[in-house]
Amino acid sequence: MSIQDELRNHLHYLFPDAKDNGAKTEVMINCPLCKREGHEDHGHHMYISLGYKGAPQYNCFKDSTHKGLLTKEALSSLVDNPVLVNDDLMDKLKSNSKREYNRVRYTIRNNGKYNFKVSPYIRKEDELKRQYICKRLGLDLSFDELLKDKIVFSLTNLIKYNYINQITRNEYIINCLDKYFVGFLTNNNSSIIFRNITNGDIKLPESISDRYVKYKLFNNNPFFGYYIIPSLCNLYDMIQIHLAEGTFDILSVFYNLRNANRKNNVYISIGGNTYEKVIEYCICELGIVNAEFHIYIDNDIKKYVLPNIQRTFKNLEISIWVHVNTFTGEKDFGVDKNHIREYVYKLV
Ligand SMILES: [Zn+2]
Repeated sequence: MSIQDELRNHLHYLFPDAKDNGAKTEVMINCPLCKREGHEDHGHHMYISLGYKGAPQYNCFKDSTHKGLLTKEALSSLVDNPVLVNDDLMDKLKSNSKREYNRVRYTIRNNGKYNFKVSPYIRKEDELKRQYICKRLGLDLSFDELLKDKIVFSLTNLIKYNYINQITRNEYIINCLDKYFVGFLTNNNSSIIFRNITNGDIKLPESISDRYVKYKLFNNNPFFGYYIIPSLCNLYDMIQIHLAEGTFDILSVFYNLRNANRKNNVYISIGGNTYEKVIEYCICELGIVNAEFHIYIDNDIKKYVLPNIQRTFKNLEISIWVHVNTFTGEKDFGVDKNHIREYVYKLV
């Protein structure tokens, strides 16, 4: 019996209602993770590949966060009774594709990740927010497109849509954020980065008087997350990672410079964090080891920033490129295409 047959049998044993796909290369089960999160799956949305091509993986078509390499640990977390998992079989699979399993060490941690989504319901007044974004980027983007980027038009809609039963600011603040700000849901869906879209002509409470305001969806979440434009990556291919300071910088890089390419490219707004911290996050937490980094700096960054990055990463086998907007009068990339003249050089 091949190891794939053994795994297939074992999965049928662990999940009695499992089905095979036509080619018998995958086993489909009702997603246990969806069930755990309160949306019971009756349509066998989780596909487990048996490892005919690369290492076995599990992948839920209802929720793209329910996926990963099928390690012993991962399989144990999918079943109600982990004792039933055949450790010998899982170890055998592991030694069969060592290279892929070795990398998974870096991706196990999934702390602080929530299942929230942006609300697809658009109100009449959201048109102003759409126009604000489009004007800054010099583009005409539809609501559908902007929802793909996890842009939040209404905080109250998002809270309702996800059945979140608590708020972490008072109602008056929530209403202000709802009216005068446009939001960006972070990659672990734990917080929203809000940008004030008024021209300072509306007097707002002190606690939200900054241009950017963070809103945590739960009070006790350990990590805010970063604003990352959703894209699709194959961890085993080279991935280009683009880093810029603000949310509009990274949106402009994505649309105006990289042709909205969502394949094997990652776009991150670093917010108030350092480039070092975010690069480390990509390698250690996101598990991206085969990467090339592109930093889109603000022209007024402190003198020590780039030499520090150079020193930190010089011994790693990664390359880091610096992009500068040399268009006269512009200081960063958060502008339309006609105001960008991109100059690139290799830092590491
Ligand atoms: Zn699922």
